[in-house]
Amino acid sequence: MAASDFDLALHSIDKPQQSDLDRCVHCGLCLNACPTYRELRVEMDSPRGRIYQMVQVSAGAPISESYIEHIDLCLACRGCETACPSGVEYGRLVEAARAEIENKIQRPWRPRVLRWMVFQKLLPSRRNLEIAGGLLNLYEASGLKRLAALPGFLPSRLRELDSLAPPIETPFFFGYYGKTLPAERERRHRVAFLGGCIANLSFARLNEATVRVLQKNGCEVSIPADQGCCGALHVHAGIRDEARKLARRNIDALLEGGFDAILTNAGGCGSTLKEYWELLEHDPEYAEKARHFSRLIKDVNEFLVSIDAAPPMRVLPLTVTYQDSCHLAHGQKIRSAPRKLLSSIPGLELREMPLSDLCCGSAGIYNVVHTGMAMSLLKKKMDSVNATGAPVIAASNPGCMLQLRAGVKKFGHGQRVAHVIEILDEAYRREKSKEPA
Ligand code: SF4
Ligand code: SF4
Repeated sequence: MAASDFDLALHSIDKPQQSDLDRCVHCGLCLNACPTYRELRVEMDSPRGRIYQMVQVSAGAPISESYIEHIDLCLACRGCETACPSGVEYGRLVEAARAEIENKIQRPWRPRVLRWMVFQKLLPSRRNLEIAGGLLNLYEASGLKRLAALPGFLPSRLRELDSLAPPIETPFFFGYYGKTLPAERERRHRVAFLGGCIANLSFARLNEATVRVLQKNGCEVSIPADQGCCGALHVHAGIRDEARKLARRNIDALLEGGFDAILTNAGGCGSTLKEYWELLEHDPEYAEKARHFSRLIKDVNEFLVSIDAAPPMRVLPLTVTYQDSCHLAHGQKIRSAPRKLLSSIPGLELREMPLSDLCCGSAGIYNVVHTGMAMSLLKKKMDSVNATGAPVIAASNPGCMLQLRAGVKKFGHGQRVAHVIEILDEAYRREKSKEPA
């Protein structure tokens, strides 16, 4: 059976499963952990309310516009999963609910075309990403972006979207594809690194820093040429056919490499990569490979702590507050590793903010689609950040970093936003500098 026919056959099971729905006992203990419920105080925009609606649809109720709106407004942040004492796997439920909507309902033509362009044409294609990156670079370099930021130049909605657009960093990280970089001194680990999709264009320097930190810690780092987008944004949007294609492509590109681990510096991507086994569990050819692949996936913070990363030797006097990435904290249950890495830096003070694991409103492309809700959440996040007085915000997911940078511009005090690994890299680089400690 061709892959597409096979994926089509999966539409009948791409929906919330009764056994998962039955786990919810409607206790409501998750409500306060839910950012949309905290904002709106509407039961149908709480985890319990959304599960209730999924139960209704599963029992035969039609997929109404209101159902789609409540499911779409969910950030898929999985804060409710952490709070739930009954072990409800809410992330799995909402992704399945979105897949069912995607397979059964035709959206209006505008969002349909936009989704087709982004999810089918842009993200999976290195060539198209490079073209888009080149055009955006031109837009920035020509001064048009600065012009667009002037009040009155663009309608306010477009100006808001423009402020959320990722900046472009040249040269793109794609230039490293197909290369293997040696470990500094003795090789102790052989790892593969995933460069992401948009991160190749917008976080090229972060990716380079990640490779340097790994090399410093005895890793030979391969960046396989045939890797591609992990499909996380597709899974969150319910576009599981394309996500499965991307998962198979990555498995084919990386599994045979015999790596000790396959690493990502993006909490959102890592969560989906670790769940490839679930995405492909019904695929007789890939189910076992996907399980093996998922076992090899590690978030870079998690991996560095597991191999006892070298603590930096020189002082880096910084005060930092850490924002948990939802898919790292709630999806992968990784909270202490990034904090351990930061705390290993001499001179660095880690100042915790309240509710650091409450979503900042980034959530993939959520901030573009539901900008109003995303901005309300961001405002509250920045209030917590500002209260710490820390001049640096650390995060472990590029999407959160973009959102926090927009937050600093709009509601902040000029804080710098950096990935944990960039701060660690900075500390290591100080060891090599001749400046007095
Ligand atoms: S998801 Fe969990 S915490 Fe929320 S209502 Fe259901 S059982 Fe209770
Ligand atoms: S995933 Fe996040 S936004 Fe969605 S119901 Fe759970 S806590 Fe609320």
